[in-house]
Amino acid sequence: MIASSSTRPRVVIVGCGFGGLEATRRLARADVEITLIDRTNHHLFQPLLYQVATAGLAAPAISAPIRHILREQIRKGRLTVLKGEVTGLDATTREVLLSDGARIPYDHLIVATGATHSYFGRDDWAPVAPGLKTLADAFELRNRVLNAFEQAERYPEDRHDWLTFAVIGGGPTGVEMAGTMAEIAHHTLHDEYRRIDSRQARVVLIEGSDRVLGAYPADLSAKAQRQLERLGVEVHTGCRVTEIDPQGVTAQCRSGAPDSPPQPYRLNTRTVVWAAGVAASPLGKVLQAAVGATLDRAGRVVVEPDLSLAGHPEIYVVGDLAAAKSYPKGEGEPTPVPGVSPSAKQMGRRAAANILRRLRGEPTLPFHYIDYGSLATIGRKAAVAQVELPLIGEVRFSGFFAWLFWLFVHVYFLIGFRNRLMVMTDWAWAYFTFQRNARVVVETRPKPPAAEPGLEPRHD
Ligand SMILES: Cc1cc2nc3c(=O)[nH]c(=O)nc-3n(C[C@H](O)[C@H](O)[C@H](O)COP(=O)(O)OP(=O)(O)OC[C@H]3O[C@@H](n4cnc5c(N)ncnc54)[C@H](O)[C@@H]3O)c2cc1C
Repeated sequence: MIASSSTRPRVVIVGCGFGGLEATRRLARADVEITLIDRTNHHLFQPLLYQVATAGLAAPAISAPIRHILREQIRKGRLTVLKGEVTGLDATTREVLLSDGARIPYDHLIVATGATHSYFGRDDWAPVAPGLKTLADAFELRNRVLNAFEQAERYPEDRHDWLTFAVIGGGPTGVEMAGTMAEIAHHTLHDEYRRIDSRQARVVLIEGSDRVLGAYPADLSAKAQRQLERLGVEVHTGCRVTEIDPQGVTAQCRSGAPDSPPQPYRLNTRTVVWAAGVAASPLGKVLQAAVGATLDRAGRVVVEPDLSLAGHPEIYVVGDLAAAKSYPKGEGEPTPVPGVSPSAKQMGRRAAANILRRLRGEPTLPFHYIDYGSLATIGRKAAVAQVELPLIGEVRFSGFFAWLFWLFVHVYFLIGFRNRLMVMTDWAWAYFTFQRNARVVVETRPKPPAAEPGLEPRHD
């Protein structure tokens, strides 16, 4: 057990994504002893992860060391940052358990470990169709996309398969990946090969429902599809993927009328991006086993109006891991909260404020989500926006101005002046030159063979 000599109330926060970081910042202003645990050493701005996966930005532009972001709070002596993976919870002794056996005691706990990919029961697809959630995922996808062009140049007889890219899932991540991959093929790489013409590459977006960006209004979905097609992406909606193998993707696709019988569809490709499913972090199951938390179908933890767990007012769950509802300030029914970064941040702040309210002996307050709208980029000069403006209400727009607005918002919300400067410089360069700066492929080293029992590992 890692002991603390402080007599202040101990708050443990698991996860330093959007929710955990906001909660930490809010609590660090109060007289509490905080321990923040994350399995990585960095906070990641996931909305720009696809830019790393498509070689537009380098990793440090969209991530920052947690210690550096919170250095002021650490210096004040109330915050300890630990790099470690939480794997369990002992609710009786009030300790979180780490994978290395350490136990961290808490009086109040905030769990903010986010979400992961879901392959809908087909985890065997993961090696052929990686998803995008972490920096490691982004490096993997970037290597695969850039290597596909290299393989096409080396083996022109197989170039059709190497130059075909499938993106599965037409949500925001799938749409931005597909649009940017088309831009790479048609603009960035087109005069750099001798045996192939990268402009002949096909980028195929496969979506199960009848439109892309299904969470957006139908008119913006239709505009997004048109913008994708203008960028050179083939969009197949109404297609349910039934198999993914190293040679390609098999699906059942409806064409034309919604009630028409599905037809088999096969796409030969060596590069598949999975952007179709999200499941809650495994810590949901840990909370279920430890304190009987209720999980929804996606594995998210059902929380009380104030974001705590039923029967455990000392445990809060926020962000993508929480199946939370927004409680209107006035009349009206509570509504489900979407899994986006503004809601994670707002939940982090509410959970922190509720902990402080309990410490003061005041009743906690229900969570109220303020929705400022949604933005999705599709590629160069292409985006859709649905924004709530004060006094005016909802405004929808698309194309160049939506794209400019998207750029502005993402730079604004990035953490740190240096990151903002890096991103703005790289984007300006890319805009005028069509170049993408982060095209270095770094192969990960193969793991050394496991040492036989009794043999010392070699270090030569
Ligand atoms: C590719 C992509 C694009 C997106 N684009 C947008 C967008 O444009 N706009 C938008 O609003 N939202 C977007 N989102 C969603 C948004 O990023 C999430 O809603 C938000 O990150 C959720 O915040 P969170 O704090 O719940 O979790 P996260 O931000 O995911 O943070 C979870 C943290 O917990 C840590 N962690 C996980 N498990 C453990 C463990 N067992 N032990 C210790 N630490 C752990 C992780 O390392 C991570 O730091 C996107 C997401 C992705 C993946």
